[in-house]
Amino acid sequence: MGMWERCAGVWVKKETGQWSEYACSPRSLDPGTELFRFFPAQIASLICGIPIGGPLVIDSWFWHPDPGGSFSVRSGYKELRSRKLSDISTSNQPSQVSQSWGKVWHSFLPNKIKHFLWRALKEILPVCEKLNQRGLDVASTCPICFSEDESVFHALLGCENLGNLWANSEIPFVGESSGEMQFAEWFDFALHHWSSDQFHLFAFICYLVWNRRNEVRLKLNTLPLSQLLPKAKDMWKEVSEAVSRPATSWICDLRSVKWKAPPIHFMKLNIDASLCGVVAGSGCLFRNESGRVLAAKAARIPVMASVAELEAMAVLQGLQMAKDLGILKVFVEGDNQWVMGKLCSPHGCLSPIGSIFDCIRSFCSHFSVVQFGWVPREANKVAHKLAQVGCTLELDHVWLEDSPAVIAAELACDA
Ligand SMILES: [Zn+2]
Repeated sequence: MGMWERCAGVWVKKETGQWSEYACSPRSLDPGTELFRFFPAQIASLICGIPIGGPLVIDSWFWHPDPGGSFSVRSGYKELRSRKLSDISTSNQPSQVSQSWGKVWHSFLPNKIKHFLWRALKEILPVCEKLNQRGLDVASTCPICFSEDESVFHALLGCENLGNLWANSEIPFVGESSGEMQFAEWFDFALHHWSSDQFHLFAFICYLVWNRRNEVRLKLNTLPLSQLLPKAKDMWKEVSEAVSRPATSWICDLRSVKWKAPPIHFMKLNIDASLCGVVAGSGCLFRNESGRVLAAKAARIPVMASVAELEAMAVLQGLQMAKDLGILKVFVEGDNQWVMGKLCSPHGCLSPIGSIFDCIRSFCSHFSVVQFGWVPREANKVAHKLAQVGCTLELDHVWLEDSPAVIAAELACDA
């Protein structure tokens, strides 16, 4: 059970710094459903997600944009820049900023094409519909097909003249479009389902389509549409050869990464957290040197302010279970690089996640050896699956000496 103390009017578990299940459960009867009695359920859930400092934690200011709470010029610059970008986005037009910009930025595309895609995602390409809305003496109809208003989506994907080009490209989803859709919205969805090859080819085709559209509008000589696809393929081939990296898909790159067994007498603990809308879950799994599953757990956890906090909470829960199982030497693996890196570092954090790190560090005294390590998501997919299961549970679920059926497919991939 651990020791309990009353803090700010509710019961908290002293040892782990978590809110008591009595305080946090809207269904429990006694000794208190304090939070849920005094606050609306949504606010009570948010309060339950705040990590509580242990007895040694002193209140302090922290820099919110940095996950560790420390200010640096770099993080200050990043924060200012992102605020500026979001100001531009909201003042110019209401479209969402693409979640996918990070992937575009880190791609192998030449800078001019990255810049072009950025303008498309921000809906700031000078398409006729936009120019017309701004009061310029330009008809809003498409200068190629003259049958619809020319939005960014129409110019790059929706125009009927581009039908064959996109069909021949064999890139998924390019034919599944709606005229009402913002380009960024569609792109965010499609990008998650494309291989690296498909994404790069898409970007080159869009770039050529846009240049061709400008040439047609200015009545310049232009390439026939049928030559755009071979040209885009050549451009991508040239770039992929130049970066001397084989044009493999992201999925295939990741498939080569696998779970590794711990050294003999060690237990490998894989942990993960998952956020599914308004609920969060954690998963942990113990395997020995031969890969045999000794225990697993899926649990619902309070929604916290950041993914990093959820991941740190999953580490803490995994260590609690390791202690309960009497494990002494444990290798803890998670796929959040920042969290696992911080756990290996002696420096504390000023932000609320620091409280969870403090609890984890003090918990380590229960073991003779604890090591933390980062692994890519693909080597941690069993824990990830358990965390997803945790999101759907009302009560924690523990499996002992038994491989849960829900992770059979993921376990088979690790073998
Ligand atoms: Zn058109």
